[in-house]
Order: sequence, then structure tokens, then C-alpha cells
Amino acid sequence: MDINQSTHTAEERWIPVVGYEGLYEVSDRGNVRSLKRPRKTYLTQHGKELVLTWFEGRTLSPSADKDGYLKVSLSKNGKSKVFRVHRLVLESFVGACPDGMECCHWNDVPDDNRLENLRWGTSASNGKDKRRNHDGKPSPAFCQNGHEMTGYNVIRCGEEKRATRCRLCERVRWREKARRKRESFQALNRA
Ligand SMILES: [Zn+2]
Repeated sequence: MDINQSTHTAEERWIPVVGYEGLYEVSDRGNVRSLKRPRKTYLTQHGKELVLTWFEGRTLSPSADKDGYLKVSLSKNGKSKVFRVHRLVLESFVGACPDGMECCHWNDVPDDNRLENLRWGTSASNGKDKRRNHDGKPSPAFCQNGHEMTGYNVIRCGEEKRATRCRLCERVRWREKARRKRESFQALNRA
């Protein structure tokens, strides 16, 4: 079955977060929610526990870390702990991370935490995802000034030469820079 199609038609599947059973659930789409739980309880004279007020369950809004990975804060017994969402998805749906492995995103999109996009894998296989996904990415066909971004006009720069710049635009910038330099030099000579 086509992966994308299954995501859109299938019902979102929720299971307990390992270690937080009864408190939080995680879904195969990478969402995390808290469950309705007692806020205040009291004991009756017969020793029976009755609930006065409840915490309503809600879907958590994850925040992104500097690498774009999503994280949520879970609390238990008054203590909060931050978890990366992809870890919660894999640990709950697949199982604990095997020794020497890490979480890999197949499509390399750090906030795509759908179960089918995640797996435990080696660091080497994670690097393979990165190369595959970046090599396949089409570079922009035109720069912001409408010059065609092909062949000699493309300057490769940045880390691993993956960023691109337009040579025609760069040339205009270089000329502008040289002109300013010349002018300030002339102004200096006149003074
Ligand atoms: Zn350009």
C-alpha cells in the first residue's frame, strides 16, 4: 500500500507512552497527548478515594530544538522530563533502542515523526538517508532575480558544497563592492 495514502485514510492509532502508562499516549502520526487524570482527590470516612477535580487530557504542542527535532515535556509524580517525540514514537510502537543504534528519519525531515518515517538504525545508515535525501533534492531553477541556475552560473558554497549562489548576482555584488571601495579611496585622496 502507498505510504502517504495509508496516512490519510487510516485512523490515528494511539498507544500508551512507555513509562507513562495512564498519563500520556503517543500516536502513529507522531502526536502526543495527556490523558484525563485526577487533579484533587479526597478520602471518604469509609476510606474510599473520590475525585474532586480532573485534569482534562489534551494534545501537547511540541517545541523544536535547534536541529528541528520536536520535543515535549512529560510529568509524572510532580517531576517533568523532556523527550524527543521521535523517541517516544519508536519506544512505544517498536521497542527500546537497540545498543549502538539511533533514531533515523527516512525522509530526513526532523519534525516528520510519523511511525512509518522512523526506525532504529545505525549511525551509518542515518548518514545514508541524509545523502540520499539531499542528493535527490532539486536545486532552485532560478535565482531570486530570475537568472537561470544551471551550469557555470551556479556557485557551490557552504558546508559540503550543497548551498548554491547565482554567479551573475554575485558579480553585480562584487562590482558594487569594488565601486564603493574605489569611491572611498578617491574621497580619501581628495581630502
Ligand atoms: Zn541571479
